[in-house]
Amino acid sequence: MYSVNENYLKLPGSYLFSNIAKKVAAFSAANPDAPIIRLGIGDVTQPLAPAIIEALHSAVDEMAHAETFHGYAPDLGYEFLRSAIAKNDFQARGCDIAADEIFISDGAKSDSGNIQEIFGPDCRIAVGDPVYPVYVDTNVMAGRTGTYDPKTETWSNVIYMPCTAENGFVPELPKEVPDMIYLCFPNNPTGAAITKDELQKWVDYANKNGAVIIYDAAYEAYITEEDVPHSIFECEGARTCAIELRSFSKNAGFTGVRLGATIIPKDLKCGDVMLHSLWARRHGTKYNGAPYIVQKAGAAVYTEAGKAQIKEQIAYYQKNARTIYEGLKNAGYTVSGAVNSPYVWLKTPDNMTSWEFFDFLLEKANVVGTPGSGFGPSGEGYFRLTAFGSYENTLEAIKRIENI
Ligand code: PLP
Repeated sequence: MYSVNENYLKLPGSYLFSNIAKKVAAFSAANPDAPIIRLGIGDVTQPLAPAIIEALHSAVDEMAHAETFHGYAPDLGYEFLRSAIAKNDFQARGCDIAADEIFISDGAKSDSGNIQEIFGPDCRIAVGDPVYPVYVDTNVMAGRTGTYDPKTETWSNVIYMPCTAENGFVPELPKEVPDMIYLCFPNNPTGAAITKDELQKWVDYANKNGAVIIYDAAYEAYITEEDVPHSIFECEGARTCAIELRSFSKNAGFTGVRLGATIIPKDLKCGDVMLHSLWARRHGTKYNGAPYIVQKAGAAVYTEAGKAQIKEQIAYYQKNARTIYEGLKNAGYTVSGAVNSPYVWLKTPDNMTSWEFFDFLLEKANVVGTPGSGFGPSGEGYFRLTAFGSYENTLEAIKRIENI
């Protein structure tokens, strides 16, 4: 008789988005005419930019002819895309990253979930609280997190780093030294960003203590402030302690197209072992690459036309974020995020729990958001709104909230 990976059975149900869907469906059934506006899920709504569509069409046409047909992609991704990323996202910002340190993938969710495979089973992880759930859940599946306490909603072998109003939603260096540290800036869900000086402290801490930082930069395109780094490799010494995850989802609207990249410097070593080699081995064994047509679309992001069009798209969402932030602030809410992020993080009024505020907002304003408690215990009493809707809906939603 076979057995199953019992670590999967330890995972508590993830009820966040299914609960939201159920509550919204019940509300809609009871109020069929309610004009519901959804500012909950972190998915983009604007169509792909023309330069990307053009690249997709042209790559599809190439696949129709034997001379230009492409089969399996190179294990680590096409050189044209890796070079464009190295040049535009890293070298242009003064980061010492070469094209052969970049691994192309189908997105940051897979990479952020899979990267833990190359680390030992006894490694201890540290995560922010609240947090993008993939980091913890994939380590649960790998058996690294100990036992779950449903009362505190925490795992015994995970170091939680609270992100609170007191620390500006940027965690403090942990007292117990972890082996793997997950950092995500600009952050999902809080929208908080980290300055270069603050991030440098993490890099120094990791180098001093022999820890590795897994740095999720999925939202870097939303950074507006000068002193906020777009990459951890802007910090001195990051080449010996950090892995960076990149996504094309939120900067270029690839949530349904799927493209990402992981950067592992060749200087990142555990003893004599290069993590780059382990990830290359994993990629070669388990992954057959993002499709040629998608990698071509990704390269279009870095053309002059692509850059200009994407800048406009990001500006559109940034305007939404500002609209939400300013509107809520004027209505008396305590808000953060938005400045370097598509997420607005607000304190629920009158000591409501995150779910109470969800019900309140749905009922009184017909607006759907995401309860902060769904991202971890320190998210209780907070609520996330996203800038990924249309401008008209965003304006209308904020007007309704102001009028409650
Ligand atoms: N990382 C963070 C922090 C995210 O919030 C998300 C998606 O919402 C992802 C990664 C996933 O990105 P991708 O679409 O590239 O898989």
